[in-house]
Amino acid sequence: MTQIAVFETVAAMRAKVAAWHEAGEKVALVPTMGALHQGHIALVKEAQRHARRVITSIFVNPTQFAPHEDFKKYPRTFDQDCAMLAEAQADAVFFPQVEEMYPPGFATRILLLGPAAVGLDDRFRPTHFEGVATVCCKLFTQSQADCAVFGEKDYQQLKVVTRMAADLDLGIEIVPLATFREPDGLAMSSRNRYLSAEHRALAPLLHKVMQELAARLRNRDDLFKAVTEAQGEIISAGFELDYLEARHAESLAPVTSLADGPIRLLVAARIGGTRLIDNIAV
Ligand code: AMP
Repeated sequence: MTQIAVFETVAAMRAKVAAWHEAGEKVALVPTMGALHQGHIALVKEAQRHARRVITSIFVNPTQFAPHEDFKKYPRTFDQDCAMLAEAQADAVFFPQVEEMYPPGFATRILLLGPAAVGLDDRFRPTHFEGVATVCCKLFTQSQADCAVFGEKDYQQLKVVTRMAADLDLGIEIVPLATFREPDGLAMSSRNRYLSAEHRALAPLLHKVMQELAARLRNRDDLFKAVTEAQGEIISAGFELDYLEARHAESLAPVTSLADGPIRLLVAARIGGTRLIDNIAV
């Protein structure tokens, strides 16, 4: 099996990155929580287009999970992840333990406004983005990477992290990448493995409804009516819908017509205890 370098400490990662920078090589970071799938590998491939060296971080970040969420049962498949990253010719894995990221006494959080406070995922996961931003800020400064690649799959997260990196002058470029999907349209996610066969068969409906809604909006259908009907379709299929909304693609502010665009459709829905999110451009 091909091996890949694994750094468990910030110091070890920094020493390697310093050597790469010394040699004039750019470094890209791909932050993940592991349980890797082809969507993550697509991020690594994109990172390789932007930098000679690619580090993938694997860290199930406790501060972005609420107490009732799936932190403990989140899938951990480290050996398989490393094999996939070696195969993709990534250069290194940063795999810190919780104590390396949050030593005793750790007491800092990043306060977020703008795209983090628009009533989408932030409404249903009120402390989620401050956890994401805190860990991403740490990963960026720890790694000293030149750029970091994030998936559009987590669209609000992408906007939050991009805003934070610019606002805090973190000196890192945030590179977005389109959502990687299963052949039936379901957005790949580490959480898809929680789905029963029955719910897995139902899950692609989310993307299908979003595609149909986007087509209706492009054809100038009434936005409120079209969105309400799409919401109804998802609920009738058996999902518990957190939200399905049309928002401004950059600010994530509510929109009332196509003229308020560019528009992004965003959805979060639960089925059998698994929460799925997706989004699509109009
Ligand atoms: P996660 O490990 O799920 O927290 O995600 C790590 C990174 O992978 C984030 O930037 C996600 O947006 C991205 N990602 C997750 N699933 C996909 C996908 N299906 N397509 C593209 N990027 C993805």
